[in-house]
Order: sequence, then structure tokens, then C-alpha cells
Amino acid sequence: MKVDFIIVGHGLASVAVVEHLKKHDASFVIFSDENPNSSSKVAAGLYNPITGRKMKQSWLAAELFPYLEEFYEGLEKSLKSDFLYKKSIYRPFLSLEDQNDWMAKQHSDSPFINKTFTNAQYHEFINDEFGGLLLQHSGFLDVSNMLNQHKNALLEKKQFIKEKLEYKHLKISKDRINYKDIESKKIIFCDGPLSENPFFDWLPTAPVKGEILHIKTEKPLPEEVIFNRGVFLVNNPHHDYYRVGATYEWKDLNYQPTEKARKQLTDKLDDLLNIDYEILEQVAGIRPASKDRRPLIGNHPEKKNVFIFNGLGTKGVSLAPYFAHQFVNSIFNFEKLNDEVNINRYYPLYSN
Ligand SMILES: Cc1cc2nc3c(=O)[nH]c(=O)nc-3n(C[C@H](O)[C@H](O)[C@H](O)COP(=O)(O)OP(=O)(O)OC[C@H]3O[C@@H](n4cnc5c(N)ncnc54)[C@H](O)[C@@H]3O)c2cc1C
Repeated sequence: MKVDFIIVGHGLASVAVVEHLKKHDASFVIFSDENPNSSSKVAAGLYNPITGRKMKQSWLAAELFPYLEEFYEGLEKSLKSDFLYKKSIYRPFLSLEDQNDWMAKQHSDSPFINKTFTNAQYHEFINDEFGGLLLQHSGFLDVSNMLNQHKNALLEKKQFIKEKLEYKHLKISKDRINYKDIESKKIIFCDGPLSENPFFDWLPTAPVKGEILHIKTEKPLPEEVIFNRGVFLVNNPHHDYYRVGATYEWKDLNYQPTEKARKQLTDKLDDLLNIDYEILEQVAGIRPASKDRRPLIGNHPEKKNVFIFNGLGTKGVSLAPYFAHQFVNSIFNFEKLNDEVNINRYYPLYSN
């Protein structure tokens, strides 16, 4: 088989990359080891333009958020499926002080704030006696469903190989790449965290384990909003449960759910929810993150036909589409890659 690109991995990164390659009529084949605990499969899929304790607009939100909705909606159409759920996020104030601080900052000009409430809106379900913020241009992506639909479409076209790519069998020369019976012009690694990838082991990665709970609540939560304070509660439309997350752990990097994470999540959930719930499952994944918390995208320092699209960290849903567009355009020399994501910022660390 002869293709323009071999793509390694099938997660949020590779979906965004191959969908943009298609726009350039490039041919490709994906290798996927089908890890059930991959970050993309575990993720709740939330996209939230205002994050953190200080409720700051997230990096490049004005560029990333409109594009992500356009991208996933386009993919829904082409795959004839639903996986993007545009929903407001409701973030209750923690205290009167929290409310006052926010009101004093006058954020009314932000395109992401829909409304500010100073009294309870959802007291039947949650503790929100001080009101809260209603955000817009937010929601969630049902990532597992999207990956399944995407895989099925590629399997039909013989563009998907359910197999781990063994790095040691790759033969890379100046003008071509050979792997078993496949010959390609270029290769893009979208292989996530803890990868054994020998071509990019010099990059300063900082993988982060995350755990989430699947819970069932005493009664269904309102469909129009996602509650988010300390933890998020994201409804899974194809299953009768909510995803609650997430934790952050930099040392204990494995896929085992822990008691510590369960307690962290239930403590926060108990602060937020007014109603009873039952835990159905606890799952863990590892986010592919970088030391400077920016994606790791670009060209190998020496091998001009070898690329990486990685380091999406905690925000794969929003980062992948925008940067895949820029990255693929940069491969075809139409656009320059943002300096903050380009791995050339780390070239001095490379030695062959
Ligand atoms: C608990 C948790 C909650 C999260 N919640 C959110 C959220 O709400 N919103 C959000 O935006 N992000 C969230 N994230 C982060 C998000 O999941 C990541 O940013 C994103 O999934 C990274 O995608 P990726 O494709 O780069 O990596 P991955 O999803 O890890 O995909 C890489 C794939 O490549 C495969 N692979 C590796 N090596 C090979 C090989 N040699 N051959 C074949 N295949 C290979 C891996 O097994 C994997 O399947 C969360 C993550 C976790 C863990």
C-alpha cells in the first residue's frame, strides 16, 4: 500500500489531523493500538472557555472555541451522527465574597458570559445560594462515540489498521518511509502520553493522570446546563449516567483507579450536589501534557518527513481542531505554526 501519510494513534489529535489532511486530498492510513484507557476514551469531553479558581478566559479562547464548534459539527454531518452537545456551563459562586469579587471585576464584555445570577437558580439540585455564572460557547463532545463513528468510516475505506505500530520496524529515509508492506511520504505521531516513541523522547513531557466517576443521580439533572464547581457533571447522552471529574496526579502514572481520587471527587461532589447519587464506576486515564502546558506540534529537527501532534493536556477537545488546521496548513506551506506550540522551541534539547 502507498499513502501520503502514516498516522500513529487514534484519539482527539489524530481525528483532527486526518480530517484536515482530507481537505488537501492527502491519502493516509491510521495505526491504532485500541487502548481502552486512552485519554480520549476516558475524557468527559467538556469545553469550557472560563476556567480555574480565578475564572479566567482560557488561552486563545476567542480563536479556539468558534472553530471547534464548526469543526465537530462538520464531522457530525459527514459521519451522520451526533456527538457535539452545545450547553451552557453553570458555575455557582462559592460565597458572598466570591460573588462580590466577580461583580467588582465587571466581566460583562466577555463573549463567553451569558448571565450572572446573584440568587439561587438550581437549588433543587445543587448548593447555589449565592447565584452563579452562566457561560456560553461551551458544552461537551461525546468523544467515545465520535471515535467509534470515525473509526467505522475509516475501516470501510481500509484507512484504519487495528494494530500497534512497532517503532523499531519503521524504516525512514530522506524521501520515503517504509513500515511492513506500507510505503508513505510522511509520518505523523499522534500517539499520546507515555509513548515509547524514540523519535521524540527528548521533548519535555509531563503526563498527568486523571480519574473520573460515573454516577447516577436520584433524579435527572436539568438538561440545558452543565454544573461545574470544583467538579463538573457531564451527562452522557447514550448512557444513563453522569461523568464527574477530574483529578490531577503527576507521580502515580498508571491506569488504576485510586481511593484517594475517589475521595477527592466525592468531597467536591458532596459540596455541590443537594441530591443523592450512586457511584457506578471509576475510571483513570493519562493526559498527554507538556512541561510548559502548551501543545507539542511540528517537525522533527533532522527528519523532515517525521512530525508530531501531541501535548494536548487537559484541553484536547478545544485545542485539537484549531491547531490541526494550522499544523496541516504548515506541512503544505500555507501557514506558519504558532511559536508557542511549535516543538522548534525545544530543538536545543535534541541531540542525535
Ligand atoms: C480523566 C480525564 C478527563 C479529561 N477530560 C477532558 C475534558 O473534559 N475536556 C478536554 O478537552 N480534555 C479532557 N481530557 C484530556 C483529553 O483527553 C486529551 O487532551 C486528549 O484526549 C489527548 O488526545 P490524543 O489523541 O493526543 O491522545 P490519546 O487520547 O492518548 O490518543 C493516542 C492514542 O494513540 C495510541 N498509541 C500510542 N502508541 C501507539 C502505537 N505505537 N501504535 C498505535 N497506537 C498507538 C494510544 O493508545 C492512544 O489510543 C481528559 C483526560 C482525562 C485523562
